[in-house]
Formats: sequence, C-alpha cells, structure tokens
Amino acid sequence: MFGMPGVGKGTQGALLSDYYEIPKLSTGEILRHEIENGTDVGIRVAQIMHEGGLVPDHVVEFIVRSRIYSEDCNRGFILDGFPRTLNQAVYLDSLLIEKGWFNSILIVYLRIDEVKLSSRILGRFLCASCGNIFHENFNSSVKVSGCSRCGSLDFMHRDDDEKEKIRNRIKIYQEQTFPLIEFYKNRHGFLVVDADANIEVVFKNITFFVNKHFDLCN
Ligand code: AMP
Repeated sequence: MFGMPGVGKGTQGALLSDYYEIPKLSTGEILRHEIENGTDVGIRVAQIMHEGGLVPDHVVEFIVRSRIYSEDCNRGFILDGFPRTLNQAVYLDSLLIEKGWFNSILIVYLRIDEVKLSSRILGRFLCASCGNIFHENFNSSVKVSGCSRCGSLDFMHRDDDEKEKIRNRIKIYQEQTFPLIEFYKNRHGFLVVDADANIEVVFKNITFFVNKHFDLCN
C-alpha cells in the first residue's frame, strides 16, 4: 500500500487483511508498539517518530524481514508504510526474490489531492488496544459503542498527528517516498486508485484489481 500519510493505507490495509485473511504489516504500528513497550528499538526511534522523521532503513528492514519470514505470512501479507525510501524498495525486492515472490507483488498507489490530507489526519484517532483506525467525522460513535474490531473503549491520537509534524511527514514523503512511483510504475501489478472516493469504493477498486491479478472470483 503506497501513498501519502493519512491517505487511507492503514484503513484499507485492515479491510484487505480481514478480507484476504492475511496479515497487515504496518511498520509504523510495529514501531509504536516498540516505543510503548520501552524496548531498545523503541527507545532509539521514539524521538525521530515524535518529530515525524524517518527511522533508519536498517531498523525497518530488519523488522520487515523477520515478519515476512513468520509463518502467518506464508499465504501473503499487506505492507503498510514500507518501503518508504529507494533503499528500502531495493531491499524489499531482494527479500521477495529470496522468497520466490518477486512476480507476485502488487503495488496499490492511493492518490489524493494534498490539501485534503491535513483534515483527514487531524480527525484521525486509534483504538488504544488493537490500533484500529477511525475518524471523528465518520466514526465518532465508536467512542460510546466501543472499537468495531475489539470492543475496547480506550482511544488515542497519535502524537505525530499534529499540524507541524504532519507538514514534516508530507515533506519527507515528497522527497524520499514519492520517487518510488518511478521505481514501481512500470511493474506489471501497479494500480493507481483515487483515494478521495469513499472507503467502500476504494476497497472495491482494490479487490477487483487483486482478484483479477490472482484469478480469484469477484
Ligand atoms: P505510519 O504509521 O506508517 O504513518 O508511520 C509512523 C512513523 O513511523 C513514520 O512517520 C516514521 O517515523 C516511522 N516509520 C514507519 N515506517 C517507516 C519506514 N518504512 N521507514 C522509516 N520510518 C518509518
């Protein structure tokens, strides 16, 4: 899943994970857990993440490598937030070649007009228990009814979802991540989706593409 911060990679990734019954690997989510748990990695990346910067390639590459080799990824996986730099994309290719999956990668590019992003991110909140993502404009009722996935009534805002930090994350995206489109755009499995459409329409467009690619039924 590829696209600017706040475009909906996490939301669509979670829906796709449920639908295809394969795990979603979100490097951001894994790193936030490391920070919460006070691990060595967490301590090293906390400040960088707080400011909306990118953590060093080797840290996320190690995380992705160990997750991809876990048993629950044998049928496939959804990457959310990785790769974010050219080095990471090259590393991912090498991992996929190693696994014999190089020709099975699909790249879904969620495209949106940049001016719409800030309000999307500022309204975002998460279930503090399972990380499920919600938005004040569409899902505020879960604060009363509980998280739609795990039922928890405990919600939080990400501490990098603040105006100044969002600006920094978008700038970094444009400088370091956006060039990856050139890297991927001529690949066989590259889809561009209008991420401004509603969640169901975006989801349908993605599943139609994935099903067609893998010859699954729609
Ligand atoms: P996300 O949840 O994908 O928005 O990621 C939150 C933060 O985690 C980012 O702003 C980075 O600080 C860090 N992060 C997540 N994935 C990566 C990655 N692939 N490379 C570098 N930093 C990452």
